[in-house]
Amino acid sequence: MRNIHIDGGTKRNLACIVDEEMGFVKLRKIRKTNDGSTAIFEFEALITALTYIQKRVINTGEIIIHTDSTEIVRFARYCKSDDFRSFNKLKMKCFRKIHQVSEKVPLQFHWLPRNHNLAGKVLEYYNKRKIPRMEFIIKSHICRYCKSKYISKRDLQRHIYNRHVMFSS
Ligand SMILES: [Zn+2]
Repeated sequence: MRNIHIDGGTKRNLACIVDEEMGFVKLRKIRKTNDGSTAIFEFEALITALTYIQKRVINTGEIIIHTDSTEIVRFARYCKSDDFRSFNKLKMKCFRKIHQVSEKVPLQFHWLPRNHNLAGKVLEYYNKRKIPRMEFIIKSHICRYCKSKYISKRDLQRHIYNRHVMFSS
């Protein structure tokens, strides 16, 4: 089984995917359209993940794509029916790719809370920092109390301090 987290960042117009077990991160710069909708970044992230699975993921069995976008989860469910139609080019592209990938590997979509989404964490981290490369490896840190995930030890420690440390009065 393989877990891939996806997210779209409107701040710097990025699509991001994180292959959890490998710690592999891929970022893609997305050209802004006049569409105005922020969902395009989520769909671009989905395309990025599907292309990554097609080109780079070998022999893994089931793949779960994790997103904190309910729109993506709803869309993926709707895609299971063959009569899917949309006037949106990006959505049609996603639909076709989901079908192509599903023919080769079992594909599932899960919703997860925002602070468990590693792709969201990466985007958050690089909101203000310089992006080193468009592909790199990260080590993730999981909170043992609530299972939320962090991409730096410092962030995890800050979280534990803020959320789980009890003060006696
Ligand atoms: Zn926690």
